[in-house]
Amino acid sequence: MLRIGIGFDIHRLEEGRKLIIGGIEIPSEKGFLAHSDGDIFFHALTDAILGALCLGDIGELFPDKDERWKNADSKIFLQEAYRLMKKEKYNILNIDAVIVIEKPKLLPYREKIRENTAKILNISKNQIFLKAKTNEKLDAIGENKGASCMAVVLLKKED
Ligand SMILES: [Zn+2]
Repeated sequence: MLRIGIGFDIHRLEEGRKLIIGGIEIPSEKGFLAHSDGDIFFHALTDAILGALCLGDIGELFPDKDERWKNADSKIFLQEAYRLMKKEKYNILNIDAVIVIEKPKLLPYREKIRENTAKILNISKNQIFLKAKTNEKLDAIGENKGASCMAVVLLKKED
């Protein structure tokens, strides 16, 4: 049995904050302004896994009013989604994601992000693909005021 899930996330970019995507800190003059570390890839991916399983969303599981998640490492959200997925006896077939960010260029960090994500989810990095695009200087993302991520995941129930 197959299940598909989609996730979307967006955060503001501000000076003096860290830019963390896929658990990797990327050198940048701006980083995410968020209650947690603002990792758009892990947030979108967490929501995609939860969505595939009809288990709610990241905002319900980890409310941003909760002090426990202040500046939290978003790995813990993804690990929780993984735990719930395994409890339901599902495995990940593949993940595809698009990050929309004007700068910096993410290509030099793509392999590191794929490897780090694969480790957390106990899969091979070949099951994860990640594309980075600019917004062609259009709108807020194009003005480097924020960045977004869309992620799709396909799950298969264990035999
Ligand atoms: Zn988020």
